[in-house]
Amino acid sequence: MTRMKPLLERNEQFARTYTPLSLGLPAAQMLVVTCLDHRVDPAVILGLQLGDAPVIRNAGGRVTQAVIDDIAFLAFLAEQLFGRQGPADTLFEVAVVHHTQCGTGFLADPDFRRQAAEATGVPEATLEASAVADPHLTVKTDVERLLASPLLSPKVSVSGHVYDIATGHVITTLEARYP
Ligand SMILES: [Zn+2]
Repeated sequence: MTRMKPLLERNEQFARTYTPLSLGLPAAQMLVVTCLDHRVDPAVILGLQLGDAPVIRNAGGRVTQAVIDDIAFLAFLAEQLFGRQGPADTLFEVAVVHHTQCGTGFLADPDFRRQAAEATGVPEATLEASAVADPHLTVKTDVERLLASPLLSPKVSVSGHVYDIATGHVITTLEARYP
């Protein structure tokens, strides 16, 4: 018995009217980095459709080295496969979206963080780096981190946004910039 059963039934419904998409540039020319929180689904809050935008999610929506590596690969792939299709100087924009009431905020508390490190084996410093206590501050830190990475393609721009769980609104805190 799996709890997937009702979800698989929804998938049956979905597949009934499904039309396959071929691999191409994201239709919205966007890539979204955000938290894995189930209240923060970018398909729902940003109205993304299939083929619109790749989405990278982790705890907090933090720009980790793994996220930077994925973005570098996706930019390379887009350039190799579709570089001649779009404007020569742009590939896509990365939107970093942090949110209020983030569960990683608990990690700002040293006692909670130490207990979490002991229970999970994840180093305390790693947990501390993933904490989003003030999304307005962390989103700025992460946009700057991505822009400063030597791995970021000059054809990729980066913007920063905060999603408010209480209101449903996404507010842009940093307009898109190229490295
Ligand atoms: Zn979160």
